[in-house]
Amino acid sequence: MATVDGLPPLREVIAHHGLVAKKSLGQNFLLDLNLTSKIARQAGDLSQCDVLEVGPGPGGLTRGLLAEGARKVLAVEKDSRAMGPLSEISAAYPGRLEVINADALEIDPLERLTPPVRIVANLPYNVGTELLVRWLTPPEWPPYWASLTLMFQREVAERIVAEPGSKKYGRLAILAQWRTTPRIVMELPPEAFSPPPKIHSAVVHLDALPAPRFEADPKMLERVVAAGFNQRRKMLRASLKGLAPDIEDRLTAAGIKPTDRAEQIPIEGWCALAREMAKG
Ligand code: SAM
Repeated sequence: MATVDGLPPLREVIAHHGLVAKKSLGQNFLLDLNLTSKIARQAGDLSQCDVLEVGPGPGGLTRGLLAEGARKVLAVEKDSRAMGPLSEISAAYPGRLEVINADALEIDPLERLTPPVRIVANLPYNVGTELLVRWLTPPEWPPYWASLTLMFQREVAERIVAEPGSKKYGRLAILAQWRTTPRIVMELPPEAFSPPPKIHSAVVHLDALPAPRFEADPKMLERVVAAGFNQRRKMLRASLKGLAPDIEDRLTAAGIKPTDRAEQIPIEGWCALAREMAKG
């Protein structure tokens, strides 16, 4: 059966190349090209952008990104078995798809990309969270990317968008919401994937803000947030005691009650505390 891009359906591609899903690589493939185009559209207008796609696998999302008009896709995939299917897509879209067979955690693809850059990925969940944290904590802000559109386990997606006062509010919410505007834009049931995972998934879209919402040194902010949420049930005067002997005074100076718990403090409060701590 023909597809929108004239390439064979993904089931045929996978069978032809013997790309049996490997658990060790977290492989749960999206086979419905309407769905992958819909995910690609969540990334925004791609026509003037280079897209970094991490973990393309057999290329369902890659085909969605190209069909939706991405100027160029740079795809980084660890599994060499996916190189055959991906080179067929390259041939169907001359000059628009570059593939690198590498571990995304070990390479810096920046030199092969021309801004503006959007990052899109359906990755194994552990790799996705590690990359998200790296993308959110570059040495300089704004980062090289304009937006991230990433598939996560629904529970992780909820942690990224969580608000103060919720059990899901923590380090991920603060890192993400301090300098981006994260939104859950799609939810996907297990049956959307082959093989189906045990959990539900969700796509989160994050646009990079031109500047952080509140002033703070990133390293100091990470330090206070990590200490606060490490013992999230304790009052802050206890959980942050190790950071400074006069922590109660510093909390008060930052407008925070020392008896509050980490999950009650909005991002503005964490930034104020990071500024107090930076005074030495
Ligand atoms: N994007 C494809 C899709 O939506 O059908 C595949 C998704 S599958 C959940 C995750 C993909 O990430 C697999 O192709 C896997 O081989 C690849 N992958 C896993 N770890 C990786 C890493 N560290 N670097 C690059 N790719 C990786």
